[in-house]
Parts: sequence; C-alpha cells; structure tokens
Amino acid sequence: MPPLRQAYRLMHRARGHLQWWPADSPFEICVGAILTQNTSWKNVELAITNLKAARVLTPKKIHALTHSKLAQLIRPSGYFNIKAKRLRNFVDIVVEQHGANLKRFFKGDTATVRERLLAINGVGPETADSILLYAGGHPGFVIDAYTKRIFERHGWCNADADYDTLQSLCTQSLSQKSGAAKLDYWRDFHAQLVVVGNHYCKPRNPNCDECPLKTLLPKN
Ligand code: SF4
Repeated sequence: MPPLRQAYRLMHRARGHLQWWPADSPFEICVGAILTQNTSWKNVELAITNLKAARVLTPKKIHALTHSKLAQLIRPSGYFNIKAKRLRNFVDIVVEQHGANLKRFFKGDTATVRERLLAINGVGPETADSILLYAGGHPGFVIDAYTKRIFERHGWCNADADYDTLQSLCTQSLSQKSGAAKLDYWRDFHAQLVVVGNHYCKPRNPNCDECPLKTLLPKN
C-alpha cells in the first residue's frame, strides 16, 4: 500500500486544513464541479459570479432559463454551449425527478447516488465524486490528473492506472475513519493533492526540493 496517510500528514503540516470547496451552497458546488471541466477555477468563478448577479443560482431558476441565456451567463467557463447542456441535464433531473430539492437528490446510499449522477449525460466519475464528496455529504474519493501524476511519480501506481484503480487504492488506504470524520479527511486529502499538484508537481520540471512530499520520493 502507498504511504498515503503519511503523505497527508506531510501535506497538512505544510498548509494546514484547506477548508474546501469554496462555495456558498451545495448547489453552487455542483455547478462549479460541472463548469470546472477543462478550465481554470478562475474562469469558473467568473461564470458563477454571473449566475449570482443574474440571481439564477438555484435549480428552478436555471431550469427556467433558455439555453442561449444560460450559455451566455456561463461563457467565461469556456465550452459554454456544451457546459450549458451538461448543467441543464443535471438541473433537469434535480427539478423533474427530485422536486428541485438537492437533499432529495442526494438521498440513498453512496453507490445509488453515484449511479444517479453518472447516468447524467456529461457527468463523469471525477465530477460525480466531487459532487458526492463536497456537496452531497457522501464519501466519494475524487481522483484527478494531479492525483495520477503525483502517484505515478512516487511509484504508487502504474502509468496505465485508471480512475477506478486509483480510487480503490485511496479508499483502501484511507478508510480508518467513518462518518463526518471520513468526509472531512477525504475532502481535505483531495484539496491537499490539488495544492501540491498546482504548486510543485507540475507536468514539467516538478519542484521536488520545496514540495512537502519530497521525503516520500523513491530512493533510486
Ligand atoms: S513535486 Fe516531486 S516531491 Fe512533490 S509530489 Fe511531485 S514528484 Fe513528489
């Protein structure tokens, strides 16, 4: 098993608890998770600011918008026509099948709610798990490109490891806690990996000398 608990302690010592995800409501988290695909968080923030300024950041209000109006509001997030469709697909299910009530949408065991999310056109595993973990209060461990890069460079996974392989590696190593403590741990773990990936473990020229995970690099 990779030394993930030790990795967490090192990252946490360097930055403290990161209090993710930055949002005013669970619905805002869902919207952010859908809009963040293939763009920077800065662009997502601009799109969310537009939705807030137009006072439409609720399932019912987004559901009532025309496609072109929604696409125009989320334009800063890039691929706005595709993302408007994806956001609408999600909102349609929340409104039409769960009474516009996110709590109802998230009701059920984690596997069931995850399937519910993955059945929505445009929601893949990373988006589904982000929504589960940060908005739904379900333990869905999020794997992203940063996770893969860090794990590969440390020899914790093979180059061809897929999403499910990485996720089960993490869930098996990090399941000592339960309930709210587990949610908090997994939320912060993913946030810490994103920070390390962003600041140190870049695609080229990783800055290992200053990285909190330096001591966990393979010796040879
Ligand atoms: S920057 Fe270096 S030490 Fe840090 S996670 Fe990447 S490979 Fe590991």
